Amino acid sequence: MSASDAVTDSLNRMRAEFRDLPGGRPADYIPQLGLADPDAFGLALVSMDGHCYSAGEADVPFTIQSVSKPFIYALALSLLGLDEVSRWVGAEPSGDAFNAISLEPGTGRPANAMVNAGAIVTTALIPDAPDEPAFERILHCLGRFAGRELEVDEEVFTSEATTGDRNRALAYLIRATGTMPVDPVLAVDRYFRQCAVRVTALDLATMAATLAYGGFNPVTREQVVSAEVTSRVLAVMATCGMYDGSGEWLLRIGLPAKSGVSGGLIAVGPARFGLATYSPPLDTAGNSVRGQAALRALSERYGLHLMLNPALPGSTVSLVTTADDLPSAPSADHERVLHEQVGVVAAQGSIDFTAAERVLYALDESGPDEESPVVLDLHDVTSVDSVGLGMLHTGLGRLSADGRRVAIVDPRDLLGPPDVVREGIGQDLPRYATREAAVEGSAKALAGEG
Ligand code: GLU
Repeated sequence: MSASDAVTDSLNRMRAEFRDLPGGRPADYIPQLGLADPDAFGLALVSMDGHCYSAGEADVPFTIQSVSKPFIYALALSLLGLDEVSRWVGAEPSGDAFNAISLEPGTGRPANAMVNAGAIVTTALIPDAPDEPAFERILHCLGRFAGRELEVDEEVFTSEATTGDRNRALAYLIRATGTMPVDPVLAVDRYFRQCAVRVTALDLATMAATLAYGGFNPVTREQVVSAEVTSRVLAVMATCGMYDGSGEWLLRIGLPAKSGVSGGLIAVGPARFGLATYSPPLDTAGNSVRGQAALRALSERYGLHLMLNPALPGSTVSLVTTADDLPSAPSADHERVLHEQVGVVAAQGSIDFTAAERVLYALDESGPDEESPVVLDLHDVTSVDSVGLGMLHTGLGRLSADGRRVAIVDPRDLLGPPDVVREGIGQDLPRYATREAAVEGSAKALAGEG
């Protein structure tokens, strides 16, 4: 993207505003991470159209560390399903530090997949495939989210492998409670490798955007995991992604997020964008100081808080009237009398649960009285999801069971092919190619009755 668009400008502004923010230190308990440039500060955003925006050191490689956790949780959910994964790892915010030695009393399960204990188990759950060993699967999965092939930083891997006794202890403790699916040494080795996969802020923004887009990578246009899986992952990120700062983060920034000890941070605006920052100095909870400040400012200034929901869906019902109000209404009085009695409801856009409720409500209210025939015009509807379809069929079926004559304008057969008659679900209602024809048909039927 050119350096002069509005999004790049705001990322640059955030960078300028927070680049000198003091406080925090790069993690050095993994010695190699201590060598990171504390001044590096990159920001990136990827939109649902796959547009990529960045500022500062967004191309500088660093190791993904804990930002890998939601993606491997997604892989585990895809391969094994929620019930199986939940037997091994919970979904409760632990309120503990990322490397806390804490397991759920009673079950011995780690609290969630975003803290180390849960992530080690989640990684251990990924089985070898006949043609792809487990770690290759992990690497490949991260690459599909990022939209390019990724590789392991061997120096960081070795650095963590030689100093990571706490994680090793954690893995043995988990085995002692009976909830570790593979040998602890193997589990931790794979987990360290996963943490040492090299990415950039731009990669992370693409990965976050893929979560935002229901598992569809907007840059490569590949479906990486299902929308159902990403909804679970985002739920756990929202409640557990920022370690013991998760509640405060959801309160103030209001976006599912995940941070890592190398200084990476992602935030997801579901169906809107993926955001990532890279800045190594961390606060005591292990979260990037500048990354958090920048994301917080972005969220506040651009109204990104998930619960704010400023975008109430645009009007679904574009017209509720009677046919004599339409420009096509006849001028002869005796015809107008009939048209006065025909209700017309036109819908537009895509029909989901919320939109279907509006359409059905409008149908109920339409026409001069509860018996009058009604035309439902779906000409400007672009799509109907399965929930919307079920609701429309049930609602239309109910209207005709109540004795209302409903005519449908559905030129693209969004309600399903008209010749498939399914009992009681409004499928056998008269269909017309245009609103005028439907009104005419309804008026004629009225005249025939009269
Ligand atoms: N590899 C790091 C560890 O397990 C990841 C922790 C993190 O990024 O929060 O200690």
